Amino acid sequence: MTDSQKTINHQHDVLIIGSGAAGLGLALRLADHASVAVISKNELAEGSTYYAQGGISAVLKPTDSFDSHIEDTMNAGVGLCDPEAVKFTVEHAPDNIQWLIDLGVPFTTDQHQNGQRDFHLTREGGHSHRRVIHAADATGKALSTTLVNHARHHQNIELFENHIAIDVITGKKLRQKDNRVYGAYILNRDTDKVETFKAKFVILATGGANKVYLYTTNPDGSTGDGIAIAWRAGCEVANMEFMQFHPTCLYHPEAKSFLITEAVRGEGGKLLLPNGERFMDRFDSRGELAPRDIVARAIDHEIKRLGTDFVYLDISHKSAAFIKSHFPTIHQRCLEFGYDMTKEPIPVVPAAHYTCGGVKTDLNGRTNIEGLYAIGETAFTGLHGANRMASNSILECLVFAESTCKHILSQLNSDSPKPDIPNWDESQVTDSDEEVVVTHNWHELRQFMWDYVGIVRTDKRLARAKSRVDLLLNEIGEYYGNFKVTNDLIELRNLAVVADLIIQSAIARKESRGLHYSLDYPEAESNMPAHNTVLSPQTK
Ligand SMILES: Cc1cc2nc3c(=O)[nH]c(=O)nc-3n(C[C@H](O)[C@H](O)[C@H](O)COP(=O)(O)OP(=O)(O)OC[C@H]3O[C@@H](n4cnc5c(N)ncnc54)[C@H](O)[C@@H]3O)c2cc1C
Repeated sequence: MTDSQKTINHQHDVLIIGSGAAGLGLALRLADHASVAVISKNELAEGSTYYAQGGISAVLKPTDSFDSHIEDTMNAGVGLCDPEAVKFTVEHAPDNIQWLIDLGVPFTTDQHQNGQRDFHLTREGGHSHRRVIHAADATGKALSTTLVNHARHHQNIELFENHIAIDVITGKKLRQKDNRVYGAYILNRDTDKVETFKAKFVILATGGANKVYLYTTNPDGSTGDGIAIAWRAGCEVANMEFMQFHPTCLYHPEAKSFLITEAVRGEGGKLLLPNGERFMDRFDSRGELAPRDIVARAIDHEIKRLGTDFVYLDISHKSAAFIKSHFPTIHQRCLEFGYDMTKEPIPVVPAAHYTCGGVKTDLNGRTNIEGLYAIGETAFTGLHGANRMASNSILECLVFAESTCKHILSQLNSDSPKPDIPNWDESQVTDSDEEVVVTHNWHELRQFMWDYVGIVRTDKRLARAKSRVDLLLNEIGEYYGNFKVTNDLIELRNLAVVADLIIQSAIARKESRGLHYSLDYPEAESNMPAHNTVLSPQTK
């Protein structure tokens, strides 16, 4: 065997797939006690975490209370939040914020009249108090940069950038009787070789699946890889119909859905029709501060009613100094596209933003496969219910990274089998001669998901989407079986799986609730208790 044919094997205590707030948050907590590998399919910072603008919610003032944060979260979730998960997250929030402050995240402060400095808190949609701690309007960048810096300097953390996970290795795949995870097969994108990573614990922290839609606020890598990997491995997946569309992204052909944070509305920004008329009061008494699903649907309604492509967001009544100091990134970015938000309204449109469903876990991040955990946007913990409240998501990443860390450390020294793991077998596949199949299917999938499974759904549209995704799943499955894996093929295969899970879940829900709105069932089901949509690969 030549050197280039040899398979590279790695061994760590813990393998973390994903380097966002969830993945690096966990790695940093574990690393003093265990050897940790962190896998990232792009550069470490390239995930949704980096792009977060608004901030992180937590009860940080005596005028606020856990009860209030819990109540707001439950209200946003429209009857589907798990009260235990909400309480758990809210009560662990202040300590996790302190952990970030101790790591050096440069949160924005305010100077009081007595000269004392305090953290500045904003208020976002659905929150009844100011409780969102932030670093100006680039919280994710500050957070991500801090976490990456610490991870790069920790000797127990080995970082693998440009490596993409294909699938986890389980007892079932090794034809063993147990239900454990043993590691993962990972494609090294620099060498095009698949490497074997062995570990006693594997964590899926791969972010959301919003790239399944044509318009999204998310970076290109949000292809639902962890959800698809878990599904193929035999994990339950829940509530995938609840995809959150952010109401306000900058409308511009070259802006690639640049997000305009909720905080602009929180600080008094008004939504306007092209004729300058305000319209949110017609849809909800909270006006522009109504939860995101209501605002997104209202904008979608007005855009379709008027046959326009966008509405306007206007904060120009505030002083230029206020706007520039609170929203420096957005102000700068809008200027690049020819809009001065200190002087004029800016055009905005909704785009897919957050995946509320995901891999079903308990409060310790555990899936139904032993040793396999899911945290962050990949996971379904029960926190968000039918709709995520703004700024609760990074919080969820941090809180569940902490509880997962505690659980893993409690199991670290327990015995587990060490089966022989075969190398990745490429003997039956060749290089693809038709890359166009991948690019064509990628576009087709995202277009029909946008048209048929978007903000407003019907039975007919969902049935159309289901027949199309079934065709794609077959075609991609065949292609995957014949050709060498590439980054694009791995992502497309995963996108098709998550699209199917979203469609199946949306078809199963015969009501409108939170983020799932159907013209055929416009009301929430009132005769039965609200239920989660749990899909299980075993029963498929
Ligand atoms: C524009 C924007 C603004 C937002 N603003 C806020 C906000 O203000 N407050 C808030 O709470 N939330 C906000 N959110 C949501 C929040 O940022 C995300 O939910 C959260 O950061 C997700 O963190 P994560 O660690 O789960 O995933 P991510 O940060 O997305 O990280 C995923 C990681 O997994 C890696 N990965 C994925 N697949 C693979 C694979 N197959 N193999 C190897 N690596 C893989 C990626 O490379 C990346 O490192 C915002 C999101 C966006 C897009």
